[in-house]
Order: sequence, then structure tokens, then C-alpha cells
Amino acid sequence: MPALKYSRQREAVKKALMNRRDHPTADMVYTSLRETFPNISLGTVYRNLSLLAGLGEINRISTGNGDAEHFDGNLTPHQHFICTHCHRIYDMQVESAASLLEEAQRAAPGSVESCRMNFYGVCRECMQAQDAG
Ligand SMILES: [Zn+2]
Ligand SMILES: [Zn+2]
Repeated sequence: MPALKYSRQREAVKKALMNRRDHPTADMVYTSLRETFPNISLGTVYRNLSLLAGLGEINRISTGNGDAEHFDGNLTPHQHFICTHCHRIYDMQVESAASLLEEAQRAAPGSVESCRMNFYGVCRECMQAQDAG
């Protein structure tokens, strides 16, 4: 069964993503996996990330500024803060997100299943760097 080989790669890709909280791009996952799997290709990593996102086992994050796609292994409901300066993606919790989802459900012409919220601004580290400079 040739599919076995592919699912092993998929597991490795998933594990590599679960081990980090920095919302890496396919490139970044590829770089970290190459240490363990020197023969893995960027195409393979990207294909598996897309597949896992399609299965709902990981999340795909589009920053909306033409950046490469990012991936998130953290499936608990949370929002993202995207720094427009360094393009880093931070996890954050907005208390009213759950009630917003309920409100959206009442307004929606169907069943609301998920909601992606991105907040944009300048992160603390970048603000400090700007102050220092
Ligand atoms: Zn920043
Ligand atoms: Zn996240």
C-alpha cells in the first residue's frame, strides 16, 4: 500500500507544526523537517500542509497582505494579532468572540461553523525597537 509512506510524511509534517507556536510558513516547516528527513522536498511539505488543512487537522492563516500562507497547529478557538511591521503572528484571546459567534449565527443565512479573526497593528517588540531607534 503506497499510501502508507505518504501518511508517515503527513504525520511528520503535522508533528513539526504541533511542536511550535510561531505559525510557520511551508518554507519554515520544510527547513525544520530537513534536519530529520534530508530527502523531504518543499513540495511534499506544502502538499501535506494543504491536505491537513483540508482535513481540518490544522489551520491555514492568510495574513491578507500578500504574504506567504502560514499554518497553525493550535486548534483551540483563538484570534490572531498580525504585526504589520515584522509580519509575526501572535495568538490572542478575545473574550467576546464567543458571543460574537452567537450573534453571527442569528444573522447568518445558514449554519456558522467557524470564524477567523485577525487584528492588525504593531507588536510590542517592534514598538520598543522603534522607540530605541
Ligand atoms: Zn512586530
Ligand atoms: Zn494561532
